[in-house]
Amino acid sequence: MYQTRLEENLPRVRERVAEAAARVGRSPEEVRIVAVTKGHPLEAIRAALASGIRELGENRLGELEEKRRLLDELAVDAPDLRWHMVGHLQRRKAPGIRDAAHVLHSLDSLRLAERLERTAPDGCPPLPVLIQVNTSGEESKYGFTPEGFLDELDEILEMTSLEVQGLMTMAPLTDDRELIRATFRRLRELQEEARRTHQGYGGHELSMGMSNDYELAVEEGSTLVRLGTVLFGERPE
Ligand SMILES: *Cc1c(COP(=O)(O)O)cnc(C)c1O
Repeated sequence: MYQTRLEENLPRVRERVAEAAARVGRSPEEVRIVAVTKGHPLEAIRAALASGIRELGENRLGELEEKRRLLDELAVDAPDLRWHMVGHLQRRKAPGIRDAAHVLHSLDSLRLAERLERTAPDGCPPLPVLIQVNTSGEESKYGFTPEGFLDELDEILEMTSLEVQGLMTMAPLTDDRELIRATFRRLRELQEEARRTHQGYGGHELSMGMSNDYELAVEEGSTLVRLGTVLFGERPE
């Protein structure tokens, strides 16, 4: 079932990404698709791998660890597979992320960064992270405020166990397309501002765009779209 769905959905999504990129003069190669498999069974992952997808995302550490364990057991072989943790990471679970994921999209507080730094094993390679910024201003959302991000960035950049690769945001749940666009645009502007004002900040990734809004995100400069439903269908209960 998942294989059929993906064979249908993936080419269409890729085409839409390419069209959105073309509208603003970007190359489609600048945009990578992270297939978010949360809530879907292992079959979805196998279908993704069979379709050539090598970047997978989960939003819960426990589910991510469990799926990776099952794949290992099944000896599913994809050495170039990269796991993206896209959801909120509780501070007490911070140490587990280094083994579980290749990149953390949701570095959403200074305290989490401090915990990651403090618990890093000696000599471990730096963990690639994206700083989550709450550019919609919704209270329900995790992330740095834009001002907090700029204020605290230097402190994060000093942490040798983290490698800041860019920024991440989540659009508000709304039908107002211009509001969504403004949320994405703000993230891109913050990236540019941080690069201007913070020595040593070389962030280049912008993780933004989900099933409902990825074309807008690509138009606003996204380099990583995080897609679940549009690839795999609704998540089963
Ligand atoms: C679930 C999730 C996604 C994917 O959502 P869809 O709307 O199904 O594409 C992307 N990012 C995060 C952080 C998520 O939790």
